[in-house]
Amino acid sequence: MRYQGREVDIEGRVRLVMESALTARDRVGVQDFVLLENYNSEVAFIENLRRRFGENLIYTYIGSVLVSVNPYKELEIYSKQQMERYRGVSFYEISPHIYALSDNTYRAMRTERKDQCILISGESGAGKTEASKKILLYYAVTCPTNDQMPALGERLLQSNPVLEAFGNAKTFRNDNSSRFGKYMDVQFDFRGAPVGGHILNYLLEKSRVIHQNHGERNFHIFYQLLDGGEDDLLTTLGLERNPQSYQYLVKGNCPRLSSVSDKNNWKVVMKALSVIGFTEEEVQKLLNIIASVLHLGNTQFGEGEEGETYITTETKITSLTKLLGVDGSALGEALTHKKLTAKGEEMITPLSFEQAVSARDALAKAMYGRTFTWLVEKINQSLALKEEIYHSGKGCSVIGLLDIYGFEVLQHNSFEQFCINYCNEKLQQLFIELTLRSEQEEYETEGIAWETVQYFDNKIICDLIEEKHKGIISILDEECLRPGETCDVSFLEKLEDTLGGHPHFVTHKLANGKTRRVMSREEFRLLHYAGEVNYNVNGFLDKNNDLLNRNLKEVMCQSDNQILSHCFRKEEAIDQKRPEMAATQFKNSLTKLMEILMSKEPSYVRCIKPNDAKQPGRFDEVLVRHQVKYLGLMENLRVRRAGFAYRRRFEAFLQRYKPLCPETWPNWHGRLSDGVSTLVNHLGYKAEEYKLGRSKIFIRFPKTLFNTEDALEA
Ligand code: ATP
Ligand code: MG
Repeated sequence: MRYQGREVDIEGRVRLVMESALTARDRVGVQDFVLLENYNSEVAFIENLRRRFGENLIYTYIGSVLVSVNPYKELEIYSKQQMERYRGVSFYEISPHIYALSDNTYRAMRTERKDQCILISGESGAGKTEASKKILLYYAVTCPTNDQMPALGERLLQSNPVLEAFGNAKTFRNDNSSRFGKYMDVQFDFRGAPVGGHILNYLLEKSRVIHQNHGERNFHIFYQLLDGGEDDLLTTLGLERNPQSYQYLVKGNCPRLSSVSDKNNWKVVMKALSVIGFTEEEVQKLLNIIASVLHLGNTQFGEGEEGETYITTETKITSLTKLLGVDGSALGEALTHKKLTAKGEEMITPLSFEQAVSARDALAKAMYGRTFTWLVEKINQSLALKEEIYHSGKGCSVIGLLDIYGFEVLQHNSFEQFCINYCNEKLQQLFIELTLRSEQEEYETEGIAWETVQYFDNKIICDLIEEKHKGIISILDEECLRPGETCDVSFLEKLEDTLGGHPHFVTHKLANGKTRRVMSREEFRLLHYAGEVNYNVNGFLDKNNDLLNRNLKEVMCQSDNQILSHCFRKEEAIDQKRPEMAATQFKNSLTKLMEILMSKEPSYVRCIKPNDAKQPGRFDEVLVRHQVKYLGLMENLRVRRAGFAYRRRFEAFLQRYKPLCPETWPNWHGRLSDGVSTLVNHLGYKAEEYKLGRSKIFIRFPKTLFNTEDALEA
C-alpha cells in the first residue's frame, strides 16, 4: 500500500500487527507519527522516537516516509526470513521496515509501470549508505533473475565494497563516511528481474587525498593496500607497510580503525573487483596509480640559492616513472616548472617552492579523482543493460537510489560544505515540489477543500546560490576568471557588493557600515532552510579553479598506464579552452539529477543519528531534535495531517466494506458516491474524519480505517 498521494490498495485483511495498537503504545510508541495525538508537538515526536529506539524499533513512518534511527549495533531484522515476511505485504499489516519501503516501491513500479526513486537523506553517520545497501540486498535476494543477466544482482551488490574502498574514509563523524554523492539506477525487465544498473557520482572530496584532519583518514583503499597487499605486490609497487611512512597518510595520525580490518576488507575489495569483471591487468594498473599517489606525496622539494625549486627525492620520481609509465625527466620538470603560452610563444617558467608543492598536490588529487570516475565508468559498463533486453519491446522500469551527503555544519566550513549544503537545498526544493504539489493537485482534481499548510519555500536560497550573474556561484566563477589580482577576500568583497542586504546572506559588515563582531572577515553566512552556516572563503578560488598545470597534463596523457591515458586525454592538454569550474560543474550535475528525480515517483528515507559517540543504546535528545528540525520532519507531519492519510476509489471501498452495512450488502445499485456515503454513515464516520471527492473517498486518519478493518474482522 502506498498511500501518500496515491492509490491505496489494501489487499487481504489489514492485520493490525501494529505494535502501536493502542495497548502497547505506551511502551513502544506509535509506528506512524500520523497517529500521534499531539502531532504539533516536537516533544511528543521525539519521545515517540526515543521509546521506539529503546525497544530496538528503529523504523517509524510519517505516512509513507520512513524515519530510521541508526542503532549502532547489528539487529536481527535483516535476514532472508525477514525479507520473506515483507514480500507483497502492505505498510500497515506489519511493523515499519526498510524492506517494507523497498517492497512497496518495487510493487508500485510493477503495478503502476512508473519509474520510482528512493531518496535517502540524513547527516553524516545517520545510516544512509547502510539503508541503500539493505534496499539493494532486498532486490538482489527477492527479485526474479533474468537468464540473460543471471549475475547482475551479485554485481550490483559488489559495486558497494569497491566504491566504498575508493570513495569512503574515516571521518570524525563516521568511520565509513561516503565522501562522494551517489545516485544509482536499477533497471528491471517486464517480469521484475533486475537487468541493469547505472551509477552517477557527485563531487568526490578530493582534498582528502592530500590532507586529513586530526583523527581522520585518507580513503580506505590506501590502508587496505598497505595492510592486506601481498609482500610481492608491495615490493613491485615499492611500498612499505607502515602507513605512517607516507606524507599523505600521516596527517590525521590515525593509521588504524578499531571497527574494521583493513586486511579483511582488502580481500573483499579484490574479490569484488573480480566479480564485477575487472581484469588482473586493470587491477594492477589501478594499484599502480594508488601507489603512485603515495610516492607523489613523499616527493619533496628544495630551494636553490637563486630561488629555484628542485626535487630532493629523486628515487620517488624513479618509482613514479616505473609505475605510471611516464617520462621521468618530463615529470620532474613538470613538477618544478610551468609552461605558459604568451603571444603565441611557449615559455617555461620555474615554480616557486610553494607553487611546486601545490602542483604536486594538484596532480595527486587529479590522478585520484579521475581514477575514481574511471572506476565508476567501469562498474557501469559491467552493469550496463544489454541492448537486446532494452530493445525486446517489453519495456524496462527503474528504481533509483539516492545516497547523498546530508546537510553539513562543521567547525570550519569550506567550499565542500557549501556545495553539499547547496545540494541539500535543491533536494528540499524537490521535496516541496513533489510532495506538496502532488498532494494539492490530487485534492484539486477531486474537488476536495484543502487547508493550505504553511511551509518555507527555499527557492529564495537556491536562487541566491545559483542564479545567473547574481548568484554566489556566478560571482565565484567571475572572480576566478577575472584577470589581475583576485583572491578569496576579493571574492568575499564582490559577494558583499552584490548580495549585501539579501535576507539569507550575512557578512561581518552591517548595513550601517559597522562591523558585526561575531563574524570573521573571511566568512560569509548563509541562512539555509536547515539552519545558519558560516563559510570561510579561504581556498574557495583554488578549489573552484581546480587547475592542473598544462605540462603535468601532457606528461599524464602520454602515460602507458591505460587508465591514466584514458583519464587525461590528449585533447585536453592541447585545448586552451577553460573547462567548466568545479561549482558550475556541480550545479549542472545537480540540475540533471533533479530532472531525473522529477521524472520518477519518490519515496523517502530520513535517517537520524542518535548520538555522536557512535554507540548503541544512546539517544541524545538535543542532537536528535536538531536533525528532526532540519530534516523538516515536523513540517512533513503537519502536511500529512492536514491532508488525508488514505484515499480509495469508491468502487474499491464499497467492494471491501459493503458487508458492514445492510443497505450496501450484497450489492449497491445506485450511484457509487451515494453508496459510500450510506456505508460510512452507517459506520458512524464523523464529518471531520473523511471527505468524498469525485471518484475517491479520502480518510483523514489511519485510525478510522483500522476501526473499519476491525469491524470487518469481528
Ligand atoms: P555519511 O554521510 O558519512 O556517508 P551515512 O549516513 O552513509 O554517513 P552509514 O555509513 O550508513 O552513514 O552508517 C554509519 C555506521 O552506522 C555504519 O558503518 C554502521 O556501523 C552503523 N549503522 C548504520 N545503519 C545501521 C543499521 N541499520 N544497523 C546497524 N548499524 C548501522
Ligand atoms: Mg554514506
